[in-house]
Amino acid sequence: LSASHSCSVSKVRVVIRVRPFLPREISEKNGDAESCISVFDSELKSCDEVTVHLKDQETSRNECFKLDAFFGQEDNNISKIFQEEVKPLISGIFKGCNATVFAYGATGSGKTYTMQGSEESPGLMPLAVATILSICHNTESRVKISYYEIYMDKCYDLLELKEREIAIFDDKDGQIHLRGLAQVRVNSISEFHQVFSCAIQRRKVGQTSLNDVSSRSHGVLVISVSTPCDDDSGKSVDGKLNLIDLAGNEDNKKTCNEGIRLYESAKINQSLFALSNVIYALNNNKPRIPYRENRLTRILQDSLGGTSRALMVACLNPGEYQESVRTVSLASRSRHI
Ligand code: ADP
Ligand code: MG
Repeated sequence: LSASHSCSVSKVRVVIRVRPFLPREISEKNGDAESCISVFDSELKSCDEVTVHLKDQETSRNECFKLDAFFGQEDNNISKIFQEEVKPLISGIFKGCNATVFAYGATGSGKTYTMQGSEESPGLMPLAVATILSICHNTESRVKISYYEIYMDKCYDLLELKEREIAIFDDKDGQIHLRGLAQVRVNSISEFHQVFSCAIQRRKVGQTSLNDVSSRSHGVLVISVSTPCDDDSGKSVDGKLNLIDLAGNEDNKKTCNEGIRLYESAKINQSLFALSNVIYALNNNKPRIPYRENRLTRILQDSLGGTSRALMVACLNPGEYQESVRTVSLASRSRHI
């Protein structure tokens, strides 16, 4: 365990990642694009919490929120986020404890970049696979991946040649199952990239034909690890890590959504709100955790709470004040009282 975790108070850590301004945004502002998000340096040294300040450059309106950690605009802090926030979750997977990492935020705030990354700068998904595979290297553990999306409360398998809807059902013990979800064994990072890049491609096809489905669906990568028990019983210890690129939390008033788009947005907002309610209940030791109120939280029930650990990365665009306030207020609300 790293120091930042042993002194954490929240069960589900909620951290911020601010993306840099893009070259286009810098030139639009003639080179002086100023971030609306800041923290005091002294705050970064405390391991319990940070206060994030948001300030509207035009109106000087401002707000403050408390969160668990802050990762600023500096280039390439993904390995820092991975080392400090995600790696501590991985050791549990080998002991049969599940974990979940969410990227949360508006469209354009850097969720996909944080989760998938680029070829030069791999995101949390490839970094997690590489680390898990390297731990498995000298053991009998086996690694399998699944990748699906949740769109309008329905599940679609993205590892199948043709995107296919997956039935969701409860077994008699109240456990939820995704019937027939493909699981592909991967032995190396190159095998992972092969499988994963095809799946991403499938998600992109939907993006052009259905008006950016990828930002309207939750994309879930599951890395399952199965480790045989060393007592000759033939049993195994199974754990999984869910890495989720959540749908964008758009403001309907701002995007003028109508018809099907408005209905989609309502579904997305319902699921994000339900997720924040579950995280809030977990972090505040509520006797009842409202998993059943939404598809997303029902599907993730075995990986949130109990012995599971989770992390929410709230992604921010430094040039968007109102949008950042929306994201940070919901993220901060799910933390603790
Ligand atoms: P989202 O998935 O939240 O809609 P993206 O991940 O697609 O947002 O990011 C929006 C744009 O910003 C993309 O062009 C992406 O390459 C860029 N971007 C996001 N985060 C970073 C970062 N940390 N460093 C450099 N570029 C980034
Ligand atoms: Mg995206």
